[in-house]
Amino acid sequence: MSDRPEKFIDENGLRLDGRKLDQIRDVKIEVGVLARADGSCYLEFGKNKVIAAVYGPREVHPRHQQKSTRAIVRYKYNMASFSVEDRKRPGPDRRSTEVSKVSREALEDQVFTEYFPKSAIDIFVEVLQADAGTRTAALNAASVALADAGIPMRGLVSACAFGKVDDTLVVDLNKDEDNYGQADVPIAMTPDGKITLLQMDGHLTPEELKTGLEMAQEGCRQVYEVQRQALMDHYAKMQDETKAPSVEEVVIAEENEVSEDVSTPPEEMKEKVVDESGEEEPEVEKALPEEEDEETVEEPDTEEDDSYE
Ligand code: UDP
Repeated sequence: MSDRPEKFIDENGLRLDGRKLDQIRDVKIEVGVLARADGSCYLEFGKNKVIAAVYGPREVHPRHQQKSTRAIVRYKYNMASFSVEDRKRPGPDRRSTEVSKVSREALEDQVFTEYFPKSAIDIFVEVLQADAGTRTAALNAASVALADAGIPMRGLVSACAFGKVDDTLVVDLNKDEDNYGQADVPIAMTPDGKITLLQMDGHLTPEELKTGLEMAQEGCRQVYEVQRQALMDHYAKMQDETKAPSVEEVVIAEENEVSEDVSTPPEEMKEKVVDESGEEEPEVEKALPEEEDEETVEEPDTEEDDSYE
């Protein structure tokens, strides 16, 4: 484990990793990275690396968890043993159970679960590399993976933490700031500012909480822009690959079709034979099957074929 830094903010007001107080770490998002999941996302938030997979809506197992009027949302957060400095014991523990619970609650209300009664929407998140803020990184990835799975949602959920180091508020804490700082407040919110997750570790005054929330809200807004752009890029790429026509192309094609219809009669109209009374001559002869010449029809050989003997 690294030692506690002497100070977290230098004389220029910059943090140990060179960021400003209100600057979030770089966010990179790739959508649809897993072929066997209904929706998936790989996300980097600074040095955090997470992958999210969504399955469903699908049948609920075990059955007793099924809800007759809505879908259930399940969320499994797992930190890989190799993702942290000191190897983590594999498997679930109290921390991952807590993170899974609060993250599920942060997303559940945004999903139109009433559209899918008696079904389950399963979200799995694996932390491949951790550098503090893994629950917020995981939530950001899960939200994009849900959208990629085509799950109808009220809005994307975007998450970002704020905290306090050297008596100063900072946004999106890194590992040293998280481990040795005075407070850590992970937050998740919708684009319209509804908070769906708020946890607090440490001590803050009411004024600090208010200011910190505003800083985290701006951080979430920036994350949201990256999430939205990643989804748009993904679907633009898919459209190119499938060569599905764009809306403009469809409109132009329909306009051309209409103008062709007016100028040239359809093929079947040209072929029709019209007699003097103006009625179409029925093509009786063509409709009947050709008569077979009885004399030339060979009777099937009923006698035993001895050619194999
Ligand atoms: N951490 C660790 N081992 C653990 C749990 C956490 O090294 O078993 C580190 C990891 O880098 C994590 C950070 O401590 O990101 C902060 O953990 P916290 O519980 O605050 O959750 P997070 O900030 O990742 O959501």
